Amino acid sequence: MSRLIPVLYMLLLANAVALAYTHYGIAPDWLTVYAVIILGVICVVRAISWSRASVVVDDIDACIRNLKRIRVMAAVIAVLFTTWAITMFGYGDPYQQGHVAYFISITVVGCIFCLVNFPPAALLVVVIVLGTFVLFFGFSGNEVYVAIAVNMALVSLMIIQIIRSYYANFSGLVDTQLDLENQHQRTIELSRQNEALALIDPLTGLSNRRAFFVTLDKTVKGAQATDRFAVAMIDLDGFKPVNDVHGHPIGDELLMLAGERLRRILGEDTLLTRLGGDEFGILLTEYKDAIDLIEMGGQLCAALNRPFALSGVTVQVSASLGLATYPTVARSSNGLFERADFALYHAKKNCPGEAVLFAAHHETLIRHDSQIEQALRKADLSKELTLHYQPVFDTDTGKVNSVEALARWDSDLMGRVSPGTFFPVAEKTGQVGFLTRVLFEKLLVDMATWPTDVSVSFNLSARDIVLSDTVEWLIDEIKEHGIDPKRLTFEVTETAFLRDFAAARTSIRYLRTHGARIALDDFGIGYSSLRYVHELEFDTLKVDRSFVTPLPVNERSRRIVKTVIDMCANLGIECVLEGIETESQRDAIHALGGRLMQGYLFARPNREAVFAPLHQTLKS
Ligand code: C2E
Ligand code: CA
Ligand code: CA
Repeated sequence: MSRLIPVLYMLLLANAVALAYTHYGIAPDWLTVYAVIILGVICVVRAISWSRASVVVDDIDACIRNLKRIRVMAAVIAVLFTTWAITMFGYGDPYQQGHVAYFISITVVGCIFCLVNFPPAALLVVVIVLGTFVLFFGFSGNEVYVAIAVNMALVSLMIIQIIRSYYANFSGLVDTQLDLENQHQRTIELSRQNEALALIDPLTGLSNRRAFFVTLDKTVKGAQATDRFAVAMIDLDGFKPVNDVHGHPIGDELLMLAGERLRRILGEDTLLTRLGGDEFGILLTEYKDAIDLIEMGGQLCAALNRPFALSGVTVQVSASLGLATYPTVARSSNGLFERADFALYHAKKNCPGEAVLFAAHHETLIRHDSQIEQALRKADLSKELTLHYQPVFDTDTGKVNSVEALARWDSDLMGRVSPGTFFPVAEKTGQVGFLTRVLFEKLLVDMATWPTDVSVSFNLSARDIVLSDTVEWLIDEIKEHGIDPKRLTFEVTETAFLRDFAAARTSIRYLRTHGARIALDDFGIGYSSLRYVHELEFDTLKVDRSFVTPLPVNERSRRIVKTVIDMCANLGIECVLEGIETESQRDAIHALGGRLMQGYLFARPNREAVFAPLHQTLKS
């Protein structure tokens, strides 16, 4: 309307000037000149003020005030122009009177179209202008004018009808637009709520992984050259057993309390997120230096190392923490995250329960790991991987009890890489399943050439044992090669149960029901939970080398080993002692009742399996 109203005034003015022109000299000057000038000034002033007006659609009250003013002005202008035209009517001849009639009808139609969006004003103009003229012509006594009056009345009715139906459409359109606008607002509001929810971890109420990366990205992008901050990653050691033994509700409670303890130390302003599982991510900004940072990390670990009183049980876990600082070790969010993760991995491996800050020498390790990963990907593993065999002896009889298959990788790119190095990398990158298959095929081929009474152990990775298709594949292969499953022992470590106890148990049962045997490897390091020994029905327990080495000089390890040997005897489980390098170790073990031994003292792992008995037996 603000664009149409100036047009309306110009139309009025132009038509009025035309009418004044045809009446100039006939009607008095006060009508054809001065009145027109006054009316013209009114029109021009109004037109200019309307075209300058800024339209504030949002302010409903202002809109209503404006509309009321338009209605008043429409009435005033209509009265003024109608009066002016009717006064002029008395002076002209029939031609000029015809012009007046023409002026009125054409002007009113134009005005109505300009006011069509505001029917009250438009109708008011129709009523005032046409009403006056219909009455005026109707009572003139002149047939032509009466006919014009009737005609005008009909046209007026038609125009009113048109205005009403146009207005109905127009207001419908406005309503639809308002509806759409409201819907749009609602959608925005909903998506804002969704967004907020999508950034929260529902269990702990902390921010979630997405929030962590969004904030980290933002912080990295907005960081100045002098800014410093650190990414910390925390992982609970021993959370899985809590979950397995006490059930998920207790596990959930533990995570909530762990989150609360961290929050209490960090305060409300630090970004603390649950990254998933038992992993937390933190963005630290307030610290003095590296030492301060490690101290803070240590505090966080210590807080989680204290026992948790949960519904009905008290449990204890420990937490390891990895730290990476901006810009010292990385300038990208991915770089920071990966390095904090690596520091965490390093902490878990070398000093569980403590905080490790990513340092320059870790970079070499990472690079080495990723070189290994690359080399593994490029390798022709069926050519480069071989198996070496190390016997386990029964020191009572001197006979070979079994041989353990140990992988060797002679990489074209990197030379000999030890299994202790490449298996962890393959585990991390998911390549280990393939390695297992290549190696197991080779083992079965070798076994076909050996005496049938020799038993063989084969090491499985944690990942192998939680994947049912790998386990099923192993049994199928054994059958396919026509080998008696009883000759095979699969060695597994506790890490498998920590990862997924239920899946590991299912796999172990599957292997055992098909006749294979299971050994728990590296017993004594890690959790050595008696629950595993109790629930998983192992056939053999292999005591880790770290207990054997100090045996001759350490009374405590002697007692521990004695306890394990006795426990195995009670449970009817075989007990193998690994890593025997000296005669004094051998003799000490023998004195404790240990019989099955493996180690460099007797034989090193060798490409050719050796089944020759020992020259010397220990049987007294
Ligand atoms: P493990 O299963 O505990 O294997 C025993 C390791 O101790 C072997 O190292 C063996 O060579 C070494 N060893 C044996 N006797 C002695 C001794 O008297 N003194 C010392 N110091 N060491 C001794 P290796 O062959 O380097 O293997 C290291 C680890 O790599 C293995 O530990 C096992 O966890 C893993 N591994 C080896 N082969 C395979 C495999 O085929 N599959 C899987 N998943 N893991 C494997
Ligand atoms: Ca082993
Ligand atoms: Ca071992």
